Amino acid sequence: MNKVSPRHPRAESLRIRERLVEGFKAGLVVPEGLAAHGRGEAFDYILGEQTTEHSQRATEAAAAMLLLAKHPVISVNGNVTALVPAETVELANAVNAKIEVNLFHGSAKREAAIAKCLRRHGAKEVLGTERKFSTRIKEVHSDRRKIDRRGIGAADVVLVPLEDGDRTEALKKLGKHIIAIDLNPMSRTAQAADVTIVDNIVRALPLMIKLAKRLSRDTKTKLREIIRSFDNEANLRATFRLMLNRLKSENC
Ligand code: ATP
Repeated sequence: MNKVSPRHPRAESLRIRERLVEGFKAGLVVPEGLAAHGRGEAFDYILGEQTTEHSQRATEAAAAMLLLAKHPVISVNGNVTALVPAETVELANAVNAKIEVNLFHGSAKREAAIAKCLRRHGAKEVLGTERKFSTRIKEVHSDRRKIDRRGIGAADVVLVPLEDGDRTEALKKLGKHIIAIDLNPMSRTAQAADVTIVDNIVRALPLMIKLAKRLSRDTKTKLREIIRSFDNEANLRATFRLMLNRLKSENC
């Protein structure tokens, strides 16, 4: 791996890219995943590569929703595994969620590589790789229509980081509550989710773990109140305004 100089003004962004490239070489990430990351980077640049107060609020609502869920599931793809494998496992443990592999460009080999990587980071169980448990969502036309009956099939709350819009909309139609992590506040995923965290997953997951651990000591009434007082539409509008203002003031 090339060493990124800490003095480089975009050092963190370059380090994240390196992790994706390593993930690509390890067979976790597909070329399309690298392109999708580029779309995310552009929005992160406008955000100033920092967690906004709006995304903090969404992350808190997401943590509360995961803690209150009966069957929470974290859906993972190659990019998520390349960027935040340990954090995915830690979050799953903190909120008692299942982890399920779900790929747009699916292949048994890549599913197995992703599951293996997550196990290496401590996951005891990774769903989505065994045919006998798989079922299909009719509304989705890509490989992502495949879900695990024990995981997303049975879930009431699904965390979908870096998701495509078709599947988010289909999961909503199935009555699931959706938490999205997506740097693009205009994506269909961002618009369709119940809670949208407009932040880079490398910042969003550590914050969600911290908040989930803290909130796990609170009462269910308090958690319900956090969710009730969160307005996703208003929060997205505020994020969008913040981006526009940053662009207008040429601050990015
Ligand atoms: P949609 O189908 O929901 O309208 P899309 O076509 O952009 O959106 P994809 O290309 O499948 O969907 O998903 C990639 C999404 O993930 C993009 O919206 C991109 O902004 C976001 N993204 C990429 N990398 C990151 C990251 N590191 N953290 C958070 N979001 C990211």
